[in-house]
Amino acid sequence: MSGPITSHTMIANILSRIRTVLGPCNEFTPLHIPIFDNREVELLSECVESNFVSSVGPFVDRFEKALAVFTGANRVVLCVNGTSALHLALRVAGVAPGDEVLIPSLTFVATANAVSYAGAVPHFVECEEGHFGVDVAKVEIYLTEHTEPRGGDLYNRGTGRRIKALVPMHVFGHPVDIEGCQRVCKRFGLALVEDAAESLGSWYHGRHTGTFGVCGVLSFNGNKIITTGGGGAILFSDEELAARARHLSTTAKRPHRWEFFHDAIGYNYRMPALNAALGVAQMEKLPKFLDQKRRLAERYAEAFAGLEGVRFVTEPDGCRSNYWLNTLVLDANGPVTRDELLAATNDANIMTRPVWVPLHKLPMYADCPRMELSVTEALERRIVNIPSSAYLAENA
Ligand SMILES: *Cc1c(COP(=O)(O)O)cnc(C)c1O
Repeated sequence: MSGPITSHTMIANILSRIRTVLGPCNEFTPLHIPIFDNREVELLSECVESNFVSSVGPFVDRFEKALAVFTGANRVVLCVNGTSALHLALRVAGVAPGDEVLIPSLTFVATANAVSYAGAVPHFVECEEGHFGVDVAKVEIYLTEHTEPRGGDLYNRGTGRRIKALVPMHVFGHPVDIEGCQRVCKRFGLALVEDAAESLGSWYHGRHTGTFGVCGVLSFNGNKIITTGGGGAILFSDEELAARARHLSTTAKRPHRWEFFHDAIGYNYRMPALNAALGVAQMEKLPKFLDQKRRLAERYAEAFAGLEGVRFVTEPDGCRSNYWLNTLVLDANGPVTRDELLAATNDANIMTRPVWVPLHKLPMYADCPRMELSVTEALERRIVNIPSSAYLAENA
């Protein structure tokens, strides 16, 4: 090719390639929509007619069982949303007020908020260029230089606070280097809690994400791969820890035929049966969603193959991603800025969006401890998510 590509040509190239996948239709294409049919209506009606619409009744158990079977988790505890699930997960993992918790800066704000609800302080770590997950090698060096072990715990030399846990996140459904995270946690004595909110249906070397640490958290918010309107879950291998989480999620009430005795400050975090009924119906569809999303991603990968200046993100080696949100990464010094691409695509009725503003740039988290975050900051200026709904696989 001769001469530099102009911004105009580059945008036209990207738009035409997205259109080869979505079809020529000019109707608005959303980023990601939930898919329901009569089955959701049927199970919701059954739930309403049973009168057990709150947290007691068969649907909560059925959804928990379906998730356990699908993920291979030993125990599953449903919660009202992913954020409450994260909060509870951190609590049962031993995070105490005044602790620090290592989390990526490149994540949804809920990860940091949950740390704050637990009375702890987010401590931001760097992500890697390929799949945006925690950069294990850099974190390992950083911890070696900035922390010290004392009495079986790890302390931040700078702040004097205990660092209790690491919460990696599987960004857009691409598994993070979770074995690397396990290694770091073991070496430094940290609890591993996975934010797997985006990665239901994603496997790392044949094992489902969210099952590698003390516990892992899922979300069923309206924009996730399956939805219960709002909802979340914690995956456990340890039965006692799961029982503790379930107890705390239901106001820590001691089971008794009539007495109201609560033995801790608990929460009202348990998922209502109405939402769980939706979850049971959605779980039946999940294998089909995963298949459709994989086909959609394959089409995008073909369409973007060989186009200079932009990379379409595919699953990490040895992993199976759910392709929850498809992602383009612009070259660092390419002709097009992220905002130019966002404007052009949205003007063309194709909904796209940027990645989250890194959390260390938000006012309430600006003063939190952090390592060097240059990759995170560079990625913020280069990531664009493109339409990813499962049904789109049938259009092209
Ligand atoms: C969606 C999501 C959550 C949880 O969100 P809820 O809306 O509370 O279910 C947590 N972390 C990440 C990374 C998410 O994407």
